[in-house]
Amino acid sequence: MAKANEFSIIDRYFQQKSLRTQHQDVLLSIGDDCAVVQPKPDSKLVFSIDTLIAGVHFPLDSSPEQIASKALAANLSDLAAMGAEPAWFTLALSLTESNPNWLERFSNTLLDMANDYGIQLVGGDTTRSTVLTITIQVHGYIKGEPLLRSNARVGDLIAVTGKLGSAALGLQIALNPESFSHFSEHHRTQALSALHHPNPQLKVGTILQNYSRCAIDISDGLCADIGHILEQSGCAARVDVEQIPLADCLQSIPQHQALKMALTGGDDYQLCFTLTETAYQELKDEYPKLDFTIIGRICSGQGLQLMANDNPYELIAKDEKGYNHFG
Ligand code: ADP
Ligand code: MG
Repeated sequence: MAKANEFSIIDRYFQQKSLRTQHQDVLLSIGDDCAVVQPKPDSKLVFSIDTLIAGVHFPLDSSPEQIASKALAANLSDLAAMGAEPAWFTLALSLTESNPNWLERFSNTLLDMANDYGIQLVGGDTTRSTVLTITIQVHGYIKGEPLLRSNARVGDLIAVTGKLGSAALGLQIALNPESFSHFSEHHRTQALSALHHPNPQLKVGTILQNYSRCAIDISDGLCADIGHILEQSGCAARVDVEQIPLADCLQSIPQHQALKMALTGGDDYQLCFTLTETAYQELKDEYPKLDFTIIGRICSGQGLQLMANDNPYELIAKDEKGYNHFG
């Protein structure tokens, strides 16, 4: 990208718009060789980075709004899964062309969302490439202990936030709209919005800090993501499929298929976490309105066993346990 052009893009679409969200701990933001921050004392810093590649992580015809919200949400969801509070982020953008309309829409969505979640854009890189890619690195604070995949213990309850499966349905609708024309407008909108505008569970994540020690965000699909917890914690789990909170938009789908979407579909960006019986009671008492559901229990052994009415439930073939780039 020609330098003058690159600088006007940075200034117009990113630097100016980033000024809406300003944290006191940022001493120097976009414009110099580096950003400079003065981290809060007595807090841990956490980082996470994710790249979205056009045609791989999102369809080539995705709107700039969809790409921006997905790129930031995926990263914010990782912060939520650690129990972290968002602080700053950087953005590396590779563009195939300099399209003012695209840049305006992309940066508006990105920086509106950043402002909503209280995360400040402090730097980045802008290049030209043959493929559109968006890399975002987020930084966050943790006051206590991070919620780790390796911290599940035998006897813990397994819980999920919100409802599952709407993003998976949204993906089916996006790929094949005609097949879903008999669905209500309301349910189609709900599913597509879950797919394109996920809500990372940052508030819940910070609450869980005081009640749980183990969490993961549901990005690959519940079964695959619980699998990560089990592997890293060295234990097994039983999940009762009848307890899985299904998204409303799955109502008109046969239960077996709806469960399949909820259990294997990615991109829900809800949290799956474990907690002791005592912590569960405390959490329920202190946050009666918190939207979460107990779906199973950690036990000794290996692997995830799905159950229905105390019988093993076979829903998922071995080859479809969620999305894996090199699988
Ligand atoms: P350098 O040549 O030192 O890498 P750049 O010319 O790439 O610097 O960037 C100039 C400034 O603009 C830096 O502060 C950088 O962090 C910031 N920047 C570049 N691209 C972006 C972007 N897409 N979003 C936010 N900040 C950016
Ligand atoms: Mg640079």
